[in-house]
Amino acid sequence: MALPERVNRRVDLTYFEGEIPVEYVYTYGLGYEEFFRGIKERGVFLASRCPECGYVYLPCRIFCERCFARMEETFELPGTGKVYSYTVVHRGMDDSPKERPALVALIDMDGADTRMVHYLLEVDPASVEMGMPVRPVLKPEGERRGHVEDIIGFAPA
Ligand SMILES: [Zn+2]
Repeated sequence: MALPERVNRRVDLTYFEGEIPVEYVYTYGLGYEEFFRGIKERGVFLASRCPECGYVYLPCRIFCERCFARMEETFELPGTGKVYSYTVVHRGMDDSPKERPALVALIDMDGADTRMVHYLLEVDPASVEMGMPVRPVLKPEGERRGHVEDIIGFAPA
């Protein structure tokens, strides 16, 4: 086995400014694929319940993250929930100010033991309350691609 080599000398670094186009494919895995297929094709939120510990996951999974039991079946939940926490985003990814602040919420999903992070829509930041009931807002049928952006966000119920 080789010992790690330690480099103690300073070197001049060369760099180039510019952009490098990077293409990639992200795969959801079996559990998330079923969830996003449900959103795309039927506009439904699919969950799974652990047969061992009873924990309910939304989006559905194929293994319980708590006890590693296999979960074979999914069921529909309404996709509604309640605001657990939220933040107001004033700056974009490039640190430039946003035209309008965005609201991002952590949502307790009704019927599930998990939470989802997503945009809050159709509400003024000053009007958001913890525990506020919300409903999902999906892209219209036919425009959904089986992608997280098929869920535009959540609006007051
Ligand atoms: Zn479990």
